[in-house]
Amino acid sequence: MTGSAKHKTMDASPHGLMRLYYRILLSAALAVFLLHGVIGLVTGFGDQYGPVLIGMDAFLVLLAVLGHELTAHSQSMEKNPPRGWLLLFTGLYIVGLASETGGLASPFFMLLLVTCVFGGLLMSGLGSTLLTATIGALHAGAAWLFPHGVLREGLDGVETTILGGRSMSIDEFTGIAMHSAFLFLGAWIAGRLSSEFRTKVVRLEDHAKRDPLTQLPNRRGYMEKMREEIARAERFAWPISILVIDLDHFKMINDEHGHGFGDAVLAQAAQILRDSVGPVDHLARVGGEEFAVSAVAADPQAGGELASRIVRRFNQHPWHEMKPGLKVTCSIGVAALDTSRSGSSPDASLSRMLDEADQALYHVKETGRNNYALAENAAKQQGAGSENSQRVAG
Ligand code: GH3
Ligand code: MG
Ligand code: MG
Repeated sequence: MTGSAKHKTMDASPHGLMRLYYRILLSAALAVFLLHGVIGLVTGFGDQYGPVLIGMDAFLVLLAVLGHELTAHSQSMEKNPPRGWLLLFTGLYIVGLASETGGLASPFFMLLLVTCVFGGLLMSGLGSTLLTATIGALHAGAAWLFPHGVLREGLDGVETTILGGRSMSIDEFTGIAMHSAFLFLGAWIAGRLSSEFRTKVVRLEDHAKRDPLTQLPNRRGYMEKMREEIARAERFAWPISILVIDLDHFKMINDEHGHGFGDAVLAQAAQILRDSVGPVDHLARVGGEEFAVSAVAADPQAGGELASRIVRRFNQHPWHEMKPGLKVTCSIGVAALDTSRSGSSPDASLSRMLDEADQALYHVKETGRNNYALAENAAKQQGAGSENSQRVAG
């Protein structure tokens, strides 16, 4: 039954939410448009106001379609959807519609609430508060000053209302207060939910890209960072060196002292690496006892020097403080970005570099460990000819 089951998940991105907002408006506007149309036909448009009302409904349908298309268009251009102004403009139009269709009793109040809720979901706290305050104040003002709508009262009626003032009944006051409270409550709850959702997504994304033992980026996090870094390096033609670092005979450490102790050694190794690399370099734990360092703007020579320094630091580290007699060393393969091979994708360049670094690492493992080697391509760039291994001094 796997093939037939279709799971449609909600698109919770800003684009998806803006489109959902306009779809809700469109459905509601179409329903009201039909309802007013039927009532108009049944009553034969005896009331002159009927066609005006249908015109306003139709404009809301148009607004919803335009908003929907504008949001979809901005997505195809990979831009942020225009949120605040679209919601404000649509919200203000619905204030007018609510004012014309019963004021406080208008069913369009539900769409005002929906607008404020989507403001809370899509905008910053300040933005959504401003949107809600504007919509709430205009809705309350219209309900107080023109309880029967401007179009129905006519401009003369409005003038009398404004000039003569209008005292508010206790029912009206309660209605306005409750409406305002609902608008703010809707925006506030939506804002809370969306910020909680965003925090969770950020935390999950971070978990998916970080190794919990060493707190370093894992392979996924590393690959993602490196794709950007390589694309940038290829564009500006600056060098990048990649070091693949593998702890020597690590299985023996686990076998002799236990897996828990092996974990502590890995954490210590990560700390040595952290202390060895520069602030712009990328360090990650890409496998069990395998790390990678990408030295940005470092040519093969600088990459080799960094590898040499790391090997030396492992040798000089007081491992015996963790366990008498303990010594941990590492082997490193160094590869360099080949900027002469322009045209290949960052992914292809990265996997080629990792392959080359792995081969150089294999060479070190074969020839005694506790050392580093440059990959053939990196050695050539460095001008070292066919010599692809260098012993570490000391
Ligand atoms: P070589 O010098 O050839 O690299 O030998 P090695 O023993 O280091 O390499 P091998 O690949 O044979 O063994 C790697 C070991 O690393 C095996 C595995 O149990 C251990 N390992 C992998 N991940 C972890 C981890 O998270 N914690 C611990 N304690 N050990 C791990
Ligand atoms: Mg290994
Ligand atoms: Mg190993």
